[in-house]
Amino acid sequence: MAKKDYYDVLGVARDADPATIKKAYRNLAMQHHPDRNPDDDEAARKMKEVNEAYAVLCDPQKRALYDAYGHAGLEGYTQDDIFRGVDFSSLFREFGFGFGDGLFDGLFGRGGSGRRRPRRGADLRYDLGLTLEEAASGVERTIELPQSSPCPSCQGTGAPADGLETCARCHGTGQMVREQRSGYGVVRQISVCGECRGQGRIVKKPCPDCQGHGMNETKKELRVEVPAGADTGYTIRFEGEGESGPGLPPGDLYVVVQVERHPLFERHGDDIYLQHDVSFTVAALGGEVMGPGLGGDVKIDVPEGAQTGAVVRVPGKGMPRPDRRGRGDQYVVVRVVTPTRLSREQKDLLRQFQRLGEKDVGQPGARKGGKG
Ligand SMILES: [Zn+2]
Ligand SMILES: [Zn+2]
Repeated sequence: MAKKDYYDVLGVARDADPATIKKAYRNLAMQHHPDRNPDDDEAARKMKEVNEAYAVLCDPQKRALYDAYGHAGLEGYTQDDIFRGVDFSSLFREFGFGFGDGLFDGLFGRGGSGRRRPRRGADLRYDLGLTLEEAASGVERTIELPQSSPCPSCQGTGAPADGLETCARCHGTGQMVREQRSGYGVVRQISVCGECRGQGRIVKKPCPDCQGHGMNETKKELRVEVPAGADTGYTIRFEGEGESGPGLPPGDLYVVVQVERHPLFERHGDDIYLQHDVSFTVAALGGEVMGPGLGGDVKIDVPEGAQTGAVVRVPGKGMPRPDRRGRGDQYVVVRVVTPTRLSREQKDLLRQFQRLGEKDVGQPGARKGGKG
């Protein structure tokens, strides 16, 4: 079955602002929440659909990908990726629904208590600025990231082996388990032990190398390959290159391309636009002129009788299409330039031209051969 459009799911316009999206989500969540529709599979399915649409549209980065490429733009994202960053439980508390955490795992179809995603470090975002030329050719860049890694002296525990004590509250498991009755039956809610922050052990004697933090700040170099034709918002995900915390697996790194404005070219998708001056004789007689293009000068075929504002297409000279074949086109917007420094001979010739009559000037419809 084809996936429904996220904007349709929430019933909002494509240019809806975050507040409108949130309001639409709130109304639909109220309507379809399983606690209001017990044993209604259709409501549960709707709720999941609404949650997913909201998770994407409330995140500027995911929304940009969806706007640019539709569902295909999020193909590389797992369900967990899509929902990451949206704290539904606090959102629902804000809405006044007041449901426990454990319920949400079931809501999103992530399965029972055993399959809960482990806690991990934060995801990082790195904005990579590129010129239009770099975006057109594709680039390889080495970026430097601040990164924290587990302290080698204490393996991230924050203390030497004899400086640790088992946490009395969670008995060393790092987790607190609570069972709760709900419309679904018994829900096991697992939370991180607050006493030891999920470590299961408490530092009695801090490690001298990391002062008990368990982590060291280091710098890491990463090579980023941006394919030719990438536009602003193009995102490359590096799994496990995000932040790690003491005893936590790292999150992911997202490198997001930002294409800078070009002094000559304006980009519209895969096409580029250029405003170019053309002499009045070329504009009147037509002819080939050279003008700037992304990979060097291009031939511009100015038609006879071109006016200022006429648009000439130069096929295949736009941006390469990432992951697809071919390139977009270059469009040249003509600006006819009236000469200002004429020689005596040129003036004489123009007067002669004037005497021959200028009845067609300013009347494009009366031009000879106007129909082709
Ligand atoms: Zn240490
Ligand atoms: Zn504990």
